[in-house]
Amino acid sequence: MGSLYQKVQRIETLQKTVDREIRQFKLANAINCLQHCSECCRYNDIQATPLEFLPFAWHAYRLGQLECWLEKLENTNTDQCIFYLSSPDGWGCTVYPVRGLICRLFGFSGSTDKNGNPVYGACRILKQAMPETVEKAREKLKKGGKIPVISAFYRRLATIDPVNGNEFMPLNLAIKKALEIVYFHCVYRECA
Ligand code: SF4
Repeated sequence: MGSLYQKVQRIETLQKTVDREIRQFKLANAINCLQHCSECCRYNDIQATPLEFLPFAWHAYRLGQLECWLEKLENTNTDQCIFYLSSPDGWGCTVYPVRGLICRLFGFSGSTDKNGNPVYGACRILKQAMPETVEKAREKLKKGGKIPVISAFYRRLATIDPVNGNEFMPLNLAIKKALEIVYFHCVYRECA
C-alpha cells in the first residue's frame, strides 16, 4: 500500500485515462450530452466507492475545506449529490475536475454481455433525443468499435486500494467516507 498521496496520484491517472477514452468514444460516434442536461447528477440512487472521491477529499484538505464539507454532509438530508447545483446563481457540478469515476463514465460507457462483448446502454435522455446516433454507436461496437467498460475501470480502481475501491454505497456516503479517510490520515498523522 502506497502513501495516501500516491493513491491520489494513481486515481488521477486513472481518471485521465477514463476521460481520454470517453472523449475518443464521443468523437468516434459524434455523440455528446445535451446542452445543460445534467439529468444524471439529479438521480438520487447513484452508487459510488469512497476511493473514487479521494482526489476530491485530498484537494478539499489542501484548500482547508475538508471540515466544512464534512459538516455539510452531516447536515444534509438529501440523497441527491451534494455537489450538484441548480439555482439562478449557477448550474451543474461544482467540483467537476475532481468528480468521481461514475460521473465520468455514466452515459458513455458500456457493460458486457454473457460472452464478454461490450454493450452500449446509453442514458435515457440520449436514447430519446438521438435514437439513431445511439443505434449507430451500438452497431459500430458490434463490428469491433471501442467503448470504456465500467466494470474494467472499477477493477483497475480497486487495485489501488481493494478495501475502499470495492465497496459501493450511496454517493454522498462515499464522498463522506473519502473525506474521513483524508481527515484521519492528515489530521492525526499531520501529512505534509
Ligand atoms: S460529483 Fe458532480 S458530476 Fe458527479 S453526480 Fe455529483 S454533481 Fe454530478
